[in-house]
Amino acid sequence: MVVMLPIGANIPSHWFKAASVEKAIIPMPSRTQEGLVYDVELDWATRELKCPCEGYKFRRECGHVKALVFASYKKKSKRKGMADTQLASYYKFTIEHLSTRRKAVYECLETYGPLSNRLIAEKEHKPVNCITGRTNELCKMGLADEVGTVYDPVTDRHVILWGLVS
Ligand SMILES: [Zn+2]
Repeated sequence: MVVMLPIGANIPSHWFKAASVEKAIIPMPSRTQEGLVYDVELDWATRELKCPCEGYKFRRECGHVKALVFASYKKKSKRKGMADTQLASYYKFTIEHLSTRRKAVYECLETYGPLSNRLIAEKEHKPVNCITGRTNELCKMGLADEVGTVYDPVTDRHVILWGLVS
């Protein structure tokens, strides 16, 4: 899977660390390690985003490129203040402004580590269909990601294990 900068998403030029006619480099901060920055590369011709992190090498996608895509949409009603906020504070800003239900899922993954949607639902005492949308949203925001699969005895299937990105 390749992550493209979608039409309608524009990365503000003041986020660029370097730019040429072929590509731009955008320093995307780590969520967990202060001072750690991933130099995400945008190819202007294909709009493909590449990240130097370990996760990207294996899966051709990662939370950092997803977070950059999310931060680049100009839906001001949804992301009040983000347009004027430095990218360096993306995670801090985004986590602070999570809706109550998203925040509960985020904090659940922070507390317990990787969990399936059903296990999150159990911890939160909510039906699982209240959780699946929230984990998908956290994934789009670059906060959570699929970290593996786990056998679920209730459904007798292997299901996605969600964890927070680094
Ligand atoms: Zn990455």
